[in-house]
Amino acid sequence: TVIRIKTALLSVSDKSGLQELVAFLYNQGVTLIATGGTARFISEMGIPVKEVSEITGFPEILGGRVKTLHPAVEGGILARRELPQDVEDLQKHNIQPIDLVVCNLYPFEKMIASQEKDLEKVVEEIDIGGVTLLRAAAKNHRYVVTVSSPNQYPELIEEMKKNGGAVSEDKALEWAIKAFSRTALYDSQIANYLSKLSQKEEAEFPEYVNIFLTKKADLRYGENPHQKAAFYQDLSFDTSGFMNHLEQLGGKELSFNNLYDTQAAFALVREFQDPAVVIVKHNNPCGVASDPDLAAAARKALAGDPVSAFGGIVAFNRKVTPESVQVFEKLFLEVVIAPDFEPEALEILTSRKNLRILRAPLAESASFDIKKVDGGLLIQDVDAIDLEKEKIQIVTQKQPTEKEWEDLYFAWKVAKFVKSNAIVLAKNKQTVGIGAGQMSRIDALKIAVIKAQNQTQGSVLASDAFFPFKDVVEEAAKYGVTAIIQPGGSIRDQESIEACNRLGISMVFTGIRHFKH
Ligand code: 5GP
Repeated sequence: TVIRIKTALLSVSDKSGLQELVAFLYNQGVTLIATGGTARFISEMGIPVKEVSEITGFPEILGGRVKTLHPAVEGGILARRELPQDVEDLQKHNIQPIDLVVCNLYPFEKMIASQEKDLEKVVEEIDIGGVTLLRAAAKNHRYVVTVSSPNQYPELIEEMKKNGGAVSEDKALEWAIKAFSRTALYDSQIANYLSKLSQKEEAEFPEYVNIFLTKKADLRYGENPHQKAAFYQDLSFDTSGFMNHLEQLGGKELSFNNLYDTQAAFALVREFQDPAVVIVKHNNPCGVASDPDLAAAARKALAGDPVSAFGGIVAFNRKVTPESVQVFEKLFLEVVIAPDFEPEALEILTSRKNLRILRAPLAESASFDIKKVDGGLLIQDVDAIDLEKEKIQIVTQKQPTEKEWEDLYFAWKVAKFVKSNAIVLAKNKQTVGIGAGQMSRIDALKIAVIKAQNQTQGSVLASDAFFPFKDVVEEAAKYGVTAIIQPGGSIRDQESIEACNRLGISMVFTGIRHFKH
């Protein structure tokens, strides 16, 4: 069955697309009712319209806070057309049934985005009656069509043309769901905004966090082919993330793992001021390098672990040059991401049919870090803290040389993006071996040494957390590590310091830990 549209109520803040819709509805012989501003808009088109106040016999009051909240309006929307009791009520009170509600809400989101400081102004942008119109119409979707966004106007026109002035029940249900989602998001944003205001301290997390997600894309599958998956955009507090500014310039559809690993690669590469290249595999960097010349950085990153780089994600923090992509000519890659590409570089990359090429701005998002546990979410600030050079302590007799300092800073940056326990060996601003995600620190070092394949002589070591024992220092010394950077703070720090002094290694403490689980 279908819902025949005889009477429509229009109440819209965003008047875009309204002209076309109103003209269409009028031509279809639909009776139009509207709130003040919307009615004025329609009248100015020379089209007859009834003001809501004519229907209610009551003016808009409290400066617009109460416009449509009235039995004559809500009754006309909520009445069940086949229920004798409801029909009788309509007749008794002389209420006209309403078949279509077109409503978009006061632009509360725009108001917060504008950083308005005046709470009274912000509060005035909280729509009350509009939300009620949408919810009432959506509740009664068996008899009423709800249009909650100007994006739906063309589809409504199409639908009514197709059905001789009516809308199908399926469409009405689909749009009812849309309307409830819209009011849920709207109220989430209000609650999030007010929670933030009522926070006493900056660091305190609010009592309630409303996360509102909307599906942006179905993904072919999840982490494994038997897992279904999709990407949902976070509309409640993170619309600045790189995923919302991602442009795909070529290649196959992006997979779940592609997106997750691209995030890891891009987050690390954008930390570097100098040109840098990062190769990520299974969410950990396997080769990272920084060099004034981007192509040299690419060569060094690849040399960091050429075996693991197969099937990797490559991230650049500069406009990509042809020379820097030629480095990967013979290597199978899943994804390349950069802030931009020189035309010739893009040409080389797009000639590789399956290679996914992504462009995104380097800007960080002011987001939270969220991890899922059964029954809830763990939410924390992102680990955004930078090394504070004044707070760094040299704890050994030996001091790092100028060149070692550069490598220590470099290795420390990388270690922050390696899963714990993490050990990073680096030399000449190039990773030579990375030990990632181990359950013991000494094993992370052993793996880093294996990866380094005899390149450890003269390298520096970064550790994401302190050394529980002196074994890491002693093992590192065997392979020619000359300087170490780590947070410090173990009760056995002194043992590690003494081992460094005995073995001629310099060591610095950062006082900052970078666990990544
Ligand atoms: P207009 O521009 O037509 O004067 O107002 C349209 C806006 O009023 C729409 O965004 C609609 O959601 C909102 N609205 C409709 N009825 C009410 C009401 O009773 N109270 C409040 N606060 N807003 C309403």
